[in-house]
Amino acid sequence: MKALDELTFDNRFARLGDAFSTHVLPEPLDEPRLVVASDAALALLDLDPAVAQTPVFAELFSGHKLWEEAEPRAMVYSGHQFGGYSPQLGDGRGLLLGEVYNAAGEHWDLHLKGAGMTPYSRMGDGRAVLRSSIREFLASEALHALGIPSSRALCVIGSSTPVWREKQERGAMVLRLAPSHIRFGHFEYFYYTKKTEQQAQLAEHVLNLHYPECREQPEPYLAMFREIVERNAEMIAKWQAYGFCHGVMNTDNMSILGITFDFGPFAFLDDFDAHFICNHSDHEGRYSFSNQVPIGQWNLSALAQALTPFISVDALKEALGLYLPLYQAHYLDLMRRRLGLTTAEDEDQKLVERLLALMQNSGVDYTLFFRRLGDESATLAVARLRDDFVDMAGFDAWADLYKARVARDGEYSEEQRRVRMHAVNPLYILRNYLAQNAIAAAEAGDYSEVRRLHEVLTKPFEEQAGMEQYAQRPPDWGKHLEISCSS
Ligand code: AMP
Ligand code: MG
Repeated sequence: MKALDELTFDNRFARLGDAFSTHVLPEPLDEPRLVVASDAALALLDLDPAVAQTPVFAELFSGHKLWEEAEPRAMVYSGHQFGGYSPQLGDGRGLLLGEVYNAAGEHWDLHLKGAGMTPYSRMGDGRAVLRSSIREFLASEALHALGIPSSRALCVIGSSTPVWREKQERGAMVLRLAPSHIRFGHFEYFYYTKKTEQQAQLAEHVLNLHYPECREQPEPYLAMFREIVERNAEMIAKWQAYGFCHGVMNTDNMSILGITFDFGPFAFLDDFDAHFICNHSDHEGRYSFSNQVPIGQWNLSALAQALTPFISVDALKEALGLYLPLYQAHYLDLMRRRLGLTTAEDEDQKLVERLLALMQNSGVDYTLFFRRLGDESATLAVARLRDDFVDMAGFDAWADLYKARVARDGEYSEEQRRVRMHAVNPLYILRNYLAQNAIAAAEAGDYSEVRRLHEVLTKPFEEQAGMEQYAQRPPDWGKHLEISCSS
């Protein structure tokens, strides 16, 4: 275990030079205080959980103090936002403080979001509010606990600094961790500005640090792109299987590592709804729940375009062709497991689709359905669950197919079925209304609810004593919350 002043820095991105980022110092928040910290994220830096309680911790992650070896930089990138190209984006309110490596040799970017204005702030104030910082913190740690690749969050620091959004709020900072903060948009920036030399430097950097195994391949860049395609297919399959809606899948929000990144008006589905749009400024539904699958491919095509200086168009097209079949294979594999199946049959895809259509029509709670399906034998579970469906005859027909399928799947005890299914079907997810409750308390100065919710979400598959209230459908007020897109 290390003390806070014992972190070991190795700022590889900063060393790429001024064409890639600009030196900017964080602008401190007033009266910093710890809102919440993640012990699991602290462990990634070999830090003792107790350090989060020290005053210097809040000072470090609110811009008051900085390690000598840190080299805070605002990164430049661009990207396609809602389908249109924005030529100049960048860290408008976040700073890469530096890269730290831990005892296991892993590198982690320390990225402070809400750290003040940078050359890329455009019309923004460089700040983040408490509400959106808490949401990013909870989402990062909750997704990770579900086994969905994501950036991580070390802590949220609150303050008394006023920040104007629709109304006056308070500024906060969230410290984000990821092995890299390089986005699809980084490659697009150097491609569209025709800075070929820097683009090659960036490609080398990503290849060497994040895809070293691709070096062994005959065409390393192509191998790297293929790997990015594969990781995105897998990540999005997990989003779809667990009902996660990202909300702003612009290419500047897509990580080059295939991890969930840049949380905005995201949501987990309560009722199953394929057409769900969590982002209220997304009037066309470009980033609706079911559109995330084709948009994943669209975004990869945008990255492919930016890689045309290095890889032939035919090879890029072929690699892009891997996306959908890989997505489908991952998705179906996960959904089979969510249904408690251990073998594969051709008709399984239809079994899943029919179930989802029934859930859609009846507004069935997506998370609780699968959890309850694993509570008891298939026969008993479907008999209990049928009450949730408006089209009971339709559900009965599905249940017959399902029971027959389970019978063909193999012999196992009810206990084996429960253990296996509960290990992939969470009881607790980050429902919008739960986040909202925690945020309301935090805005009033009480951080206990954020901390409790975070604790619960770190073990989403384990039933936790006294935490029943976190495993419920939303109350009426919490069903269709409009989550502000300003953050
Ligand atoms: P986002 O939609 O949060 O991914 O942000 C898109 C772009 O706007 C990024 O370049 C951000 O850095 C920038 N941005 C968002 N909010 C602010 C803000 N409050 N101040 C400055 N820049 C911002
Ligand atoms: Mg962003």
